Amino acid sequence: MEKKNIDWSNLGFAYQVTDKRFVSNYKNGAWDEGVLTEDATITLTECAGVLQYAQTCFEGLKAYTTEDGRTVCFRPDLNASRMKDSCERLEMPVFPEDKFVEAVKAVVRANEAYVPPYGSGATLYIRPYMFGSSAVIGVKPAEEYQFRMFCTPVGPYFKGGAKPITIRVCDYDRAAPHGTGHIKAGLNYAMSLYQIVDAHEQGFDENMYLDAATRTYVEETGGANFIFITKDGTLVTPKSDSILPSITRRSLMVVAEKYLGMKVEHRPVRFDEIKDFAECGLCGTAAVISPVGKINDHGKEICFPSGMDEMGPVTKKLYDTLTGIQMGRIEAPEGWIVEI
Ligand SMILES: *Cc1c(COP(=O)(O)O)cnc(C)c1O
Repeated sequence: MEKKNIDWSNLGFAYQVTDKRFVSNYKNGAWDEGVLTEDATITLTECAGVLQYAQTCFEGLKAYTTEDGRTVCFRPDLNASRMKDSCERLEMPVFPEDKFVEAVKAVVRANEAYVPPYGSGATLYIRPYMFGSSAVIGVKPAEEYQFRMFCTPVGPYFKGGAKPITIRVCDYDRAAPHGTGHIKAGLNYAMSLYQIVDAHEQGFDENMYLDAATRTYVEETGGANFIFITKDGTLVTPKSDSILPSITRRSLMVVAEKYLGMKVEHRPVRFDEIKDFAECGLCGTAAVISPVGKINDHGKEICFPSGMDEMGPVTKKLYDTLTGIQMGRIEAPEGWIVEI
């Protein structure tokens, strides 16, 4: 397969159009077969459910080249099942999970020339999404939907290695108890833009959201779950019904326990415990793990002993093991690596 002439190691994290995308339409109560198309545009009624009432959800996963030259993706079945949960919560029809995984394979195969080579640090980011496409003016679910999946090559999330970031405790909430924080809905991101723009203006990389009801427990950032390492080497990760169940976080819990022999705790984490932890990181598909060096709580700084120069040693071990599994250097648990 001839690869595109792309400067892989200098790619940023931005959209770039590729050759083919998958499209399936839901009409009269059923999904059609779906097709791969070269058309990267969408024509919609001005009154589409997605435009009026934000009826839309999405997923994100990656395909990449392993050390031995295979094109693979990581746990796409979990993206399929999480999208099912999102659709059910938003009164949208579920796209069958097995067909979701087939569509991932079809899209990557059709754009194989854009899958970055092993060692470049770049990956092919895959974006499945669904939206209400028929006209809705009274508040109710749309009757017709479109499921789409495109892909775009993206650079290493952190150029020149993962430097620890500084985050701040945010005074706005991300997700209400019994709300939609646990699903991957566009609406959760629309209302986070104000906070992220403000955080950047104030010199912070991300917002740490606390639980909306009591503001005493740690939830997550706008797009990544937290992991903490205690001074005696236990992985602690916050549990709450309003946190989005990150596939990276769930995978790291397995890696910590089964590969590194660590103790793992998935439990509510009080904000006032954080000062006692040794390491902190954010996890998600895009960066795998971003180390956090400092948390600013209204001017009061919590500085982790791992410092601002590099990833903490345990975080680094977690990162190296998970990326080793993804890249085929370390044997993966059954079903984690899906060959295209
Ligand atoms: C997508 C997302 C994550 C990360 O999930 P992964 O499956 O690891 O990519 C974390 N938090 C939020 C709010 C998200 O939308």
